[in-house]
Amino acid sequence: MKTVRKYVFVTGGVLSGLGKGVTTASIALLIKLLGYNVTAIKIDPYVNVDAGTMNPYMHGEVFVTEDGGETDLDLGHYERFLGVNLSKDNNITTGKIYRAVIEKERRGDYLGQTVQVIPHVTDEIKSEIEQIANRYESDVTIVEIGGTVGDIEGLPFLEAARQMRLEKGLENVVFVHVVLVPKLSTTGELKTKPAQHSMQELRRIGIQPDIIVARASEALDGDARRKLSLYGNLPENFIFSNPDVDIIYEVPLILHSEGLTKAVSDKLRLNYREPDLSAWKVLIENYRSSTKKVRIGMVGKYTKLKDSYLSIVEAVKHASLNQRVKPEFIWVEATDIEKGNLDVGSVLDGVDGAIILPGFGARGVEGKIKAIRYLREVGKPVLGICFGLQLMVVEYARNVLGYERANTTEVDPTTPHPVVDLLSYQKNVLVKGGTMRLGALPVRLVPNTLISDIYGNAEIIYERHRHRYQVNPAYIDDFESSGFKVSGFSEEGFPEVMELKGNEFYLGTQFHPEFKSRPISPSPIFFRFVKTILTRITI
Ligand code: GLN
Repeated sequence: MKTVRKYVFVTGGVLSGLGKGVTTASIALLIKLLGYNVTAIKIDPYVNVDAGTMNPYMHGEVFVTEDGGETDLDLGHYERFLGVNLSKDNNITTGKIYRAVIEKERRGDYLGQTVQVIPHVTDEIKSEIEQIANRYESDVTIVEIGGTVGDIEGLPFLEAARQMRLEKGLENVVFVHVVLVPKLSTTGELKTKPAQHSMQELRRIGIQPDIIVARASEALDGDARRKLSLYGNLPENFIFSNPDVDIIYEVPLILHSEGLTKAVSDKLRLNYREPDLSAWKVLIENYRSSTKKVRIGMVGKYTKLKDSYLSIVEAVKHASLNQRVKPEFIWVEATDIEKGNLDVGSVLDGVDGAIILPGFGARGVEGKIKAIRYLREVGKPVLGICFGLQLMVVEYARNVLGYERANTTEVDPTTPHPVVDLLSYQKNVLVKGGTMRLGALPVRLVPNTLISDIYGNAEIIYERHRHRYQVNPAYIDDFESSGFKVSGFSEEGFPEVMELKGNEFYLGTQFHPEFKSRPISPSPIFFRFVKTILTRITI
């Protein structure tokens, strides 16, 4: 018997940044809990081939997949909610689609034809979606179309989705439209007009939404529901309210209690059974009942857009929720320290521990180094990630080893002490897109170290990477003889983890442990980091 694959397309109306990714991830989880095999795809209609070359200020964090994809941060939500590893292919962009179409055209695959958006580009989109569904053998594939309905660049993707519904049938393709219903501060009314317009726009291109998820600061009232039903041309019981919540892991619980699981299941003719959401309920219960608080300093240079460090924030939350503690994030802008507008002592005295965040380039580096020195000297728990580790190394070389002008060659190519230097094979790499050291790679842990204890004495771990520079192995002896120990090595033999003897938790990793952290199974590093802080506060 031929397997029937089913699809849920999630579109967005009114404006972006609505939490469409969390809604998509929640729907994916709810269907998975019905006992189906589910995968999720993010479509980003921008022309970049992937998110790797974009500034996090433009687009938020670049999420790194196990297979080394530099993807949209929504893939992080999908992985965290579904508890699975996805591939770089689960992120489709206009750049990828056009690259494939143009390669085919050059090869002669369309010989004799005029290559057009319809059918060639739309066929490529449909074929990529179906290939992923086939590869994962998924019963239901959730496809989130990024951006907002009405964007010119999103049109080919919506058209492809419309065609898929026509080709596969009503019971195999469902459209969920996520809209914002703003509240007027003057009258306190929930206004549905912008949502009405976006639903009209969808219909204009031939898509009738089956389900509306309304994002609002509060639950929808009867009047707003009636209007969305009337103007959206769908029954009221297919309109779901998704109000603002403190913690995103509550969204599946809310959508389920509103009846969304049953609605999607009915539309797709799935077998319904009550999903077991107990693990998620426990998380929320932990959050509600937590009385303790940990204050985490977040030292970085993209702190004005919190999404720049999304997976790290989530990883801290996972570690905290599972220990019944609420994290409070104190954002420490490194460029402000650098310019002398922010005093390290006054801001860092107020934190219980700090994370030195990943990053690129010279701006903010001296500010970060000042913060690192302060934290090391007062002995607060510090976790350095990627660039964070590299700058912990630079700070140590300057202030403990006495190499005054020590630096990373990323910042100062002529430093006499290149304690952090370009990975040797990167010296010949000129192309920027997709050429860093990327994805899950083995790290060999040194026995009897903090990191080895954190990972339950594992000898080899696999964590995800995204870097071009490395701690220079030529300096390992210098560091180790003064107590800054290398406790994890790459296969090539350069430092992947370093930890300082004497400080309770002063640890840096070249890899990014945040990408594999999940609400139900937190990253062991973040878990221990929060645990160490907790014991220090409560002693
Ligand atoms: N800029 C550093 C490198 O390329 C660190 C990268 C990062 O923090 N992700 O090695």
